[in-house]
Amino acid sequence: AYDIHVIGGGLAGSEAAWQLAQAGIKVRLSEMRGGGDMTPAHHGESLAELVCSNSFRSDDADSNAVGLLHQEMRALGSLIMREGDRHRVPAGSALAVDRDGFSAGVTAAIAAHPNITIVRERVDTLPEGPAIIATGPLTAPGLSESIAAETGKDALAFFDAIAPIVHRDSIDMDVAWFQSRWGKGDGTDYINCPLDKEQYHAFVAALIAGEKTEYREWENVPYFEGCMPIEVMAERGVETLRFGPMKGVGLDDPRTGRWPYAAVQLRQDNAHGTLWNIVGFQTKLKHAEQVRLFRTIPGLEKAEFARLGGLHRNTFLRSPELLDPTLRLRSRPNVRFAGQITGCEGYIESASIGLIAGRFAAAELTGRTLAPPPVETALGALLTHITGAAEAETYQPMNVNFGLFPPIPGRTKKADRKKMYTDRARAALSGWLAA
Ligand code: FAD
Repeated sequence: AYDIHVIGGGLAGSEAAWQLAQAGIKVRLSEMRGGGDMTPAHHGESLAELVCSNSFRSDDADSNAVGLLHQEMRALGSLIMREGDRHRVPAGSALAVDRDGFSAGVTAAIAAHPNITIVRERVDTLPEGPAIIATGPLTAPGLSESIAAETGKDALAFFDAIAPIVHRDSIDMDVAWFQSRWGKGDGTDYINCPLDKEQYHAFVAALIAGEKTEYREWENVPYFEGCMPIEVMAERGVETLRFGPMKGVGLDDPRTGRWPYAAVQLRQDNAHGTLWNIVGFQTKLKHAEQVRLFRTIPGLEKAEFARLGGLHRNTFLRSPELLDPTLRLRSRPNVRFAGQITGCEGYIESASIGLIAGRFAAAELTGRTLAPPPVETALGALLTHITGAAEAETYQPMNVNFGLFPPIPGRTKKADRKKMYTDRARAALSGWLAA
């Protein structure tokens, strides 16, 4: 007998099960690895396996959003952070771990918990009773079909097509300008960066020459019309981009009074207006190459990127419209989602969403209500992005970053801003914990 069914023993499912169990809730944790199934990215049977890098990224809680998230998770009794700290290996200001020791530590802690039963089984349908689905970017096909049947096919994606996202305050507005093509909309929907003929040709040549990331053999990402990598479009002919996402027509450059030869457009990506995505710029270029190349675009010379582009196999929900503020499926509120399947990106982000999903479910099962963490905290900012602040139509996976936080009011020096975000977050988290 159990009170709740957690499906998927990855980063998010392990953390969710731990939080529930610590609150006295009986958990059945179903993990298909070890029961005759495997994902294309995992290698073994341990819970919380790290499928690629062994880094949890920056551990600096004063000036980095993921470092702040580490700190918040530690304060909330995270098992993933406890074992990450125990199995730390030297990596400067980053938190890197001995991957085998880490996963073994998580597995042992969960196996030993009297409130958790690990069952090595694949689950193919959404459960009837209370559940948390944390089956990750490579959710097994039977279950993803069952999820799509509940949410509607268009609301569950199997591939991401990520265009880079830029912090609004790093765009040079002396060069770029606000305007919708042909003067439509209220005039603030797009930010435009102009390129002259020479700049455009140099840019296209650089895209073609740029170093790309290879697909893994199982990834097999199809190129849908509308989300083709920008470098693949460039290879189709020198004018392809100028008649596609880099069209200059209908845009009046205030500095010349004319349409530019070509243009790059950015569109608002979050409700705060702090993040803007480069329209149509999904890409497989290597990250360093993206930064170098996109900073050659006039107006983006000093661009700070909240996220770089990519294309991967990745199962994720259109969460901003499907999930309520406590991660429940609106159409079926006894089911919560957690981890990368909600559209967060990264080991720590996935674990943190598992943590809060576990806490929400534990509160509900014991007849309490838990207010979501304040949006000023890293956990609250990420959760708010997933459950409503992001644009549903263009929703794509996201790492935690300061662009998700409500902006600091008034004028502030850039150098002081990160510390202001993290100090404000700590105060907000203490207030929430005390309540
Ligand atoms: P997972 O950790 O994948 O856990 C999901 C679990 O559910 C798995 O154990 C799976 O076996 C199980 N499962 C799936 N379907 C079923 C089912 N029907 N029934 C029962 N069990 C099921 N993030 C980083 O921060 N750094 C990286 O270097 C990194 N590299 C990545 C490389 C690849 C190839 C991929 C795909 C992702 C990578 N990520 C990386 C992104 C992400 O952080 C990880 O995928 C992370 O593991 C997500 O955590 P999760 O708990 O949501 O999913």
